[in-house]
Amino acid sequence: MNMAYFERRGDVLFAENLPLAHIAEQVGTPTYVYSRAALTQNFLAYANACHSHGRAESGALVCYSVKSNSNLAVLNLLGKLGSGFDIVSGGELLRVLAAGGDPRKVIFSGVGKSEDEIKLALSHDILCFNVESIPELHRLSAIAGSMHRTARVSLRVNPDVDAKTHPYISTGLKENKFGIAFEDALQAYRIAHELPNIEVTGIDCHIGSQLLDDAPLLEALDKVIELADQLHAAGIRLHHLDIGGGIGITYDNEQPVAVADYLARLFKRIDHWRADSYGGAPISIMFEPGRSIVGNAGVLLTRVEYLKHGASKNFAVVDAAMNDLMRPAMYEAWHGVQAVQQRDIAARQYDVVGPVCESGDWLARDRALALEPGDLLAIMSAGAYGMTMASNYNTRGRAAEVLVDGSSFSVIRRRENPKDLFALESIVE
Ligand SMILES: *Cc1c(COP(=O)(O)O)cnc(C)c1O
Repeated sequence: MNMAYFERRGDVLFAENLPLAHIAEQVGTPTYVYSRAALTQNFLAYANACHSHGRAESGALVCYSVKSNSNLAVLNLLGKLGSGFDIVSGGELLRVLAAGGDPRKVIFSGVGKSEDEIKLALSHDILCFNVESIPELHRLSAIAGSMHRTARVSLRVNPDVDAKTHPYISTGLKENKFGIAFEDALQAYRIAHELPNIEVTGIDCHIGSQLLDDAPLLEALDKVIELADQLHAAGIRLHHLDIGGGIGITYDNEQPVAVADYLARLFKRIDHWRADSYGGAPISIMFEPGRSIVGNAGVLLTRVEYLKHGASKNFAVVDAAMNDLMRPAMYEAWHGVQAVQQRDIAARQYDVVGPVCESGDWLARDRALALEPGDLLAIMSAGAYGMTMASNYNTRGRAAEVLVDGSSFSVIRRRENPKDLFALESIVE
């Protein structure tokens, strides 16, 4: 997909037109490095596909999933390109606002929205709440009433399709905690329709993440369309359908469906449906992509501290760890590893591990690498669910983040120092 923005020229690995080693020299390691061109291209894959299917601003909205990478500079860049935002907390809403995002393009997902989060979102008059339960509907109605506001809602329905992805990132099956069961949806909509200070505007679903094939997404769309027809018959008119995010990226040699192809198939179904049943009356379509916009647009740059050559295994101990990139420890996720400077020495098989005191602290296993201590490595495809899942375990400051643009870069988050980490703590006499 965007591998071209992190490309080897001769022996040297670049981010756009900038050698990655320059960033390490000036900012240190570990550092997340994002490509502005890759972020832009990935967002425009959605936006342009919407346009080419005759969907102007009001006919389609891409709501970038903030939790995949929530750096203000990333949000600001996407906002300027026209993106809306899918948030899952009040904190994410404040980030979007701080980044100059438009609250009227914000949708709020998540199973556990607190009263304070709902108040905050209502006070900014966000576009829509993706409601995940009937108790949430009642809470939303009561709070909106007390504020003399109307909450626009879509119900997140669970279409019970198998996304055929990792169980931890599959969300559309009956046994998941997410959404309202498909067979209960009509009744839930009736309740929503009756509640004061609630305006039903859409249907939402999100079936999982890292989907390589769009068949499960189109299957979910068919079920959502079926429900929209039932709602129409019950006198409930919808403004939009939100089909969620979930398109996968290339970590190793996966070949995810192209966004343009997926959207072409999706709009074809929707256009047929509207033409057949509604005389062509339009309905707005929303998406919530995260990984497919940022995943391949970032790498984690790290330096080799030690090489441990053993009888049965070799370890490259690097200065990034599971606290910086949790995905391998959490999902056994596979990330490519590339030496920033290729060396003319024999490669060996290495496990790339961090300094954290956990056996689960590994970033990659069994990789052929030609290394010397002090070498730089790039952990590839680390732009999504990398920095946002980072922790301070072992009192490690979180990595710096930089955004590359052509042959220059900007630091978009400074490295945390140890004092930052205990600044909020106090000793009791
Ligand atoms: C995480 C999430 C997304 C984004 O998923 P990706 O796989 O990163 O595209 C979209 N919608 C909801 C509700 C989510 O929780």
